[in-house]
Amino acid sequence: MAALGTPSGTIEILKKYNFNFQKKYGQNFLIDTHILEKIIEVSGITGEDCVLEIGPGIGTMTQYLARKAKHVIAVEIDQALIPILEDTLSGHTNVTVINEDILKLDMKQMIEEKNGGKPIKVTANLPYYITTPIIMELLESHVPVESITVMVQKEVADRMQTGPGSKDYGALSLAVQYYTKPEVMIQVPPTCFMPKPKVGSTVIRLTRYSMPPVKVREEKHMFALIRASFNQRRKMLVNSLANAPGLGLAKEEVEKALEIMGLPVTIRGEKLSLEDFAGLSDLLGNGGKNHISF
Ligand code: SAM
Repeated sequence: MAALGTPSGTIEILKKYNFNFQKKYGQNFLIDTHILEKIIEVSGITGEDCVLEIGPGIGTMTQYLARKAKHVIAVEIDQALIPILEDTLSGHTNVTVINEDILKLDMKQMIEEKNGGKPIKVTANLPYYITTPIIMELLESHVPVESITVMVQKEVADRMQTGPGSKDYGALSLAVQYYTKPEVMIQVPPTCFMPKPKVGSTVIRLTRYSMPPVKVREEKHMFALIRASFNQRRKMLVNSLANAPGLGLAKEEVEKALEIMGLPVTIRGEKLSLEDFAGLSDLLGNGGKNHISF
């Protein structure tokens, strides 16, 4: 059998199993060995690591990961790929394939079972239709993860790295930058995939901080404020927050908090930095209610 990660090896295995690509699952398989080697290199995987691969496809990257890591957990939603994975990974005893939707899996429990609760590394060529929910889940649910090295749509990598004032700035940028240090590692053209995606791709590495770069009393409250601010990003912040169900904030209260922080009351959420959101949350959260008196 020709090596996976090449056009001929991929076609051979797809033909053998009469596999049809499922567009709804974002299936674009890597067919470039040079890119695969680089992804493994920048993931920094060692023989001590337990690696989670989200969406192994036909097992191309899984084979590379299995050669480097102590253990690989590969979670694939498409049942049609399971017999293929059994075939392509038959030479590796350190791989566990789970046929499940990654967004339905209890990752904390899985890491507890497979790695004694110790932090794992995530390496994946992600299905692009669910990149944001996967990343948000990995970050916000405090799953023990040391680093996340993932192929994403180029525009999404831009969103992860950008700051206030940019049109790409939003809840994803703030979550990524609060929990991790993002670094763009590789730019990947559509020709490296089968079938070719319509968009350019980027491999980005997110290294989890042991201590976030800003201090906030109630992390969950800060992210509730951030979500509400960007749900109505064209509105003034005071209106977005005062209208947001669940926050229970009065317009005057938000205005007062902005005044205390020395920010204009007409400001939009997209102009606030991570530090600003942390400060605002400390003033408006339950722990800080007494800071505002009328
Ligand atoms: N890792 C392979 C590669 O690089 O060639 C395939 C990557 S392909 C971009 C994304 C993979 O994620 C597909 O195999 C797809 O079936 C799988 N997938 C899509 N949605 C998923 C989900 N919710 N949970 C787990 N896997 C999913």
